[in-house]
Amino acid sequence: MSIRFRLTIAAIAVILVANSLLSFSALQYLGRVWMGEVQTRVRRNLSSARAAYENQLNVIAAFLLATSRDRTLADAAEENDRATLDSILQGVGVPETMDFAGLLDASGRVICRVGSRQSGEDLSADPLVAQVLREHRPAQGTIVFSRERLLAEGPELARRASVPVIPTAAARPTAKSVCTDGMVTAATVPVLDARGNLKAILYGGNLLNQRYEIVDTIKQQVFRGEVYKEKEIGTVTIFLGDLRISTNVTNEDGSRAVGTQLSTSVSDAVLLRGETWAAPAFVVNDWYITAYEPIRDPAGRMIGVLYVGLLQAPFAHQLHVISIVFLGIVGAATVASLMLLLFIHALVLRPIRSVVEMAQKVIGGDLTARVGVRPPGEMGVLCRAVDSMAQAVAEREELLTQAANQQIRRSEQLASVGRLAAGVAHEINNPLTGVLAFADLMREKENMDPQDREDLEVIIRETKRAREIVRGLLEYARETPSVKTSLNVNEVVRQTMQLLGKREAFQNVNLVEALAEDLPTVNGDRNQLQQVLVNLSLNACEAMHSGGTLMIGTSRADNKVVIEVTDTGCGIRPQDLERIFEPFFTTKPVGKGTGLGLSVSSGIIQQHGGTLEVESVPGKGTTFTIHLPAAAAGAA
Ligand code: ADP
Ligand code: MG
Repeated sequence: MSIRFRLTIAAIAVILVANSLLSFSALQYLGRVWMGEVQTRVRRNLSSARAAYENQLNVIAAFLLATSRDRTLADAAEENDRATLDSILQGVGVPETMDFAGLLDASGRVICRVGSRQSGEDLSADPLVAQVLREHRPAQGTIVFSRERLLAEGPELARRASVPVIPTAAARPTAKSVCTDGMVTAATVPVLDARGNLKAILYGGNLLNQRYEIVDTIKQQVFRGEVYKEKEIGTVTIFLGDLRISTNVTNEDGSRAVGTQLSTSVSDAVLLRGETWAAPAFVVNDWYITAYEPIRDPAGRMIGVLYVGLLQAPFAHQLHVISIVFLGIVGAATVASLMLLLFIHALVLRPIRSVVEMAQKVIGGDLTARVGVRPPGEMGVLCRAVDSMAQAVAEREELLTQAANQQIRRSEQLASVGRLAAGVAHEINNPLTGVLAFADLMREKENMDPQDREDLEVIIRETKRAREIVRGLLEYARETPSVKTSLNVNEVVRQTMQLLGKREAFQNVNLVEALAEDLPTVNGDRNQLQQVLVNLSLNACEAMHSGGTLMIGTSRADNKVVIEVTDTGCGIRPQDLERIFEPFFTTKPVGKGTGLGLSVSSGIIQQHGGTLEVESVPGKGTTFTIHLPAAAAGAA
């Protein structure tokens, strides 16, 4: 899985999760806010409906008041002039403006009625009549008429008031199967004579039961005919108690949906506790956002409910549209951000791809490969660093190759010199032996001229020196394979020291051993290692003309045995240091050194898989250090 793929998947997941959460909570919030708005609107509509309802009462009161101002009414009432009274009451507006009207005497007894012949009964208990009797001022309000009162006002009213109760599961059970009471909006006004005495009381009102003009007018005033899918969105209903007695809501057959009851919860809230209730509800045949508030009689008792409902469908539809638009925007934003993200990924990751490709080329051996691009920021730093690294690797490789080539050339040179020397030495060795043998024989001769004898000594000495060189050469070019055994280095050192101590050259030299115990053994050729130690010791001795100390020490470092040969001699000049291992390099006078000791020693140590190093301070002394690999554990 590429980084890009993984990053992309991660980013997509993050964006999708974030946007889903966002959309979900935003839609929830939107829904709540929207519902709140709609409910606020319903409450406002309810207030408007209330105002329209009150207005209708005001109209009744206004008509009655206008009629009561007629001076002849008071006189006619006093004189019980039926003809005059009838003609005056005809102007009150029954049945266009109100359903019923009548005139009472100053004690509250019925003098006459507009829609009926009945008279004489005492209406002083009627709350509105009682109020006028008490205060001599107009009164108005909503009250409940019994069936008897309705019959008295007009049989037609009693008939219209009766609403059959349709039982509903959610409603409070009721014993009545038909409601015979009537809810009326009524007004009473005093009829006063010139001196302000109460002469009569004029009353009138509307029966709300199944009087649909009122709810339709209120609806028209509040909702102004707003329609959704050919259905008016607003409805108004008037309840007597919890029973629908007048409404715009229609049944499937088009008839008005009266006779059903409020659900218990709404009925309790509004009719018992007097609250205003607003909530979505299923009313008759559709979902409405509803608001209910109590209708009170003049004494403040809650006798009915005024209801407005807004069809929920149009608002749900609007919310739906808003949600879809919102989701569309979020979706588009998601797609856009994903695309942007992919683009940014590509932009950011391109350098990484270049780095990876470049690294693969380098691994494949192409050290000239470079990233090349320099994007801004940390990526640029990374690319530059990788390029510099490749550059450094290429340079080091170049140096190593050069060094290796040099080494190879030198080895080849040494090898050919060695072969040549070996050939020459071999050829010279035999004649030299012959020369020496004959020179020795000649020295035995008696009566020899002293001058000749001296010359002969020179011949012998020089011949011996030549043989020394030849031996060194043969040693250097040694072709006999070494015989390796498991060796205790300390033992080899001790033997060498014993050997050296007997030599005349070492009489002035203080020989010191510093041997570490429990050294691991090494795998080596005893004679060859001894020869190395002798060579190093002879050099040390020759560097200490006027005596000094030669110390041979052993120690252990990691998996190696270390032998140090230290002298307190003249030291080696820095410029000679790198040449002393070359064959035939010597600083000693002709006849003294061959320049082969160190190169032979170095060759032997190399054959043993070890190293020979030198450290020297001119005037103070020199230390040669040999590292030999320890033999594998248990090989001793
Ligand atoms: P030779 O001893 O024949 O000169 P070597 O190969 O043994 O040849 O040594 C090479 C040179 O290294 C010597 O000529 C000498 O200058 C220098 N050298 C080696 N060992 C020492 C030492 N311990 N102190 C000072 N110089 C040394
Ligand atoms: Mg030497």
